[in-house]
Amino acid sequence: MKLVLASSNAGKLAELRELLSDSGLSLHAQSEFGVSDAVESGASFIENALIKARHASAATGLPALGDDSGLLVDALGGAPGLYSARYAGEHGDAPANNALLLQRMAGVPAAERRAHFYCVLALLRSADDPQPIIAEGIWPGFILEAARGTQGFGYDPLFFDPAQQLGAAEMDPALKNRISHRGQALASLRDRLRDAWR
Ligand code: IMP
Repeated sequence: MKLVLASSNAGKLAELRELLSDSGLSLHAQSEFGVSDAVESGASFIENALIKARHASAATGLPALGDDSGLLVDALGGAPGLYSARYAGEHGDAPANNALLLQRMAGVPAAERRAHFYCVLALLRSADDPQPIIAEGIWPGFILEAARGTQGFGYDPLFFDPAQQLGAAEMDPALKNRISHRGQALASLRDRLRDAWR
């Protein structure tokens, strides 16, 4: 069955495709259908995930998966949070976002550099599906003092996982997929799908 991913982020598409590889669902980027990004006007991650999924489903007539995610840093009161993709101004400019994050975290001691990635997934069977399937995941860690690693995307070079003793951008993609906020949200979604959508 075809499922449209309501995102144009190639990193997310690759991760979610890998995570869904044995599910019987084939994930297609909305750009394959000429669908542009929805305006993320929601006041929460859940609202944004639903807005994105509804937009993609309405435009394609297919079931759609909307994802909204971000990095929340304790010492910054949860910033960049909802604005993670455009923290430094321009949407998706990861080097600028990372530079700004390092600047805002300058002088914050190691014990106070806690942060977590958060992901919510919303699956709509149709644009007017009244009962979307919602799943979420949280990945706790710390903000590094300098970038480490070359894998991943976004804030990965600045995110350290104390359980693995590795930076997110130092991880093998398969490991990141298994433990990340997105991996956890998708695992939860897949459990839910098994029951709710046969
Ligand atoms: P979204 O496309 O609105 O969900 O924006 C999410 C933003 O949060 C991305 O552009 C990244 O800046 C950040 N982000 C979300 N997940 C990750 C991740 O797994 N690694 C690094 N950055 C992430």
